[in-house]
Amino acid sequence: MRPSSIFLSYLRLGLCIVPVFPAAVPACAGASTTVSRRVALMGTWAHLEIRAGDPAAAEAAAEAAIRELEAGEAQLSTWTTGSDLARLNATPAGVRVTLAPRLAHELRLVVDWWRRTGGAFNPAMGPLVRAWDLRGSGRTPSPAELRSAVEASDPKKLDLRTDVAIRRNAMLALEEGAWGKGAALDRARTAALEAGAREVLINLGGQVLSTVPFEVEVVHPADPERVVARWRVPAGSVATSGNGERADPHILDPRTGRPAPDFGSVSVWAPSALDADVLATALFVMGPVEGPRWVHQHPDIRSLWTTTRDGDPEVYEIPPRDDILAAPAPRFSGPDAPNPRHHGETP
Ligand code: FAD
Ligand code: MG
Repeated sequence: MRPSSIFLSYLRLGLCIVPVFPAAVPACAGASTTVSRRVALMGTWAHLEIRAGDPAAAEAAAEAAIRELEAGEAQLSTWTTGSDLARLNATPAGVRVTLAPRLAHELRLVVDWWRRTGGAFNPAMGPLVRAWDLRGSGRTPSPAELRSAVEASDPKKLDLRTDVAIRRNAMLALEEGAWGKGAALDRARTAALEAGAREVLINLGGQVLSTVPFEVEVVHPADPERVVARWRVPAGSVATSGNGERADPHILDPRTGRPAPDFGSVSVWAPSALDADVLATALFVMGPVEGPRWVHQHPDIRSLWTTTRDGDPEVYEIPPRDDILAAPAPRFSGPDAPNPRHHGETP
């Protein structure tokens, strides 16, 4: 493993480029070592930059963060059959399933976000994901299939008690696509700091978590070569949702069961990565009229909207601040810059 000497890296990921820790951000006091790691997981790449007081601490913290990311995938992925979430989905209706406390807590959080976003984010989207074959080559469900999938995608049919879950409908299927990365990022941040990290930066498939202020460049939703804004945000996490480079829309409005209208993209900053992940999807579904109204009622969240009416991007922040920097950040090309053109290639 090569400790990187500079705590800066650019990654061009589908929906955002991540110039992190601009030189202006003073490194924490005293000597420090930065370790960079890159691991394949959740169908994408995670890039970690972990800074600590000495090489051994930086290595230990990077290892701890990676273990948490991998444990998150093992516990949450419904792309495999062995995870806790997949087993819950496969357990017959009415049968009690004991959950790890952290997973039970995360499920309570995401069901609460379903309520607070008026159903625009829905953690029980499995039937709709299947009806549209979002994980395969895509299909259009018949009106009858769509009605049945909307009805089955109902988080109320998940009976959640302290550390026990019971599916009250055999069709209920939890889906982690819009919140699992965020959950895993929050877990990894905690593990790295507990293992001695002073600063943590992780980019997981385009969602970024940082323990120090950072900047995110946002690219044109339909043209990843074109930087449309640079967004300076406090420590926390930024997630972006939009159809970007995907051929078929993958964000559905659970209230109609249909693909959410494609207006561009929305990036969300929140202190918690799980919240940022959830809300980027929810605000994309709400759209550029209902979405900003929702953000105004939630002052602890920030959002950056890129709408692409007739091709020209319009970029605005809600709530408005003057921290959007129009000029693209200087390109970093230091010896340790990891692959700067990581177009979200899957491992
Ligand atoms: P987001 O907007 O954050 O999420 C969109 C995804 O959430 C959609 O793909 C859909 O699954 C779901 N969704 C759509 N609309 C809504 C809605 N309104 N409310 C709630 N959910 C919605 N990809 C692979 O190719 N292979 C893998 O093995 C794989 N494993 C994964 C394991 C885990 C634990 C996680 C979290 C993701 C994994 N993925 C994998 C990626 C995943 O399937 C999605 O492609 C990815 O999470 C989309 O994230 P996003 O931030 O780009 O989009
Ligand atoms: Mg997301």
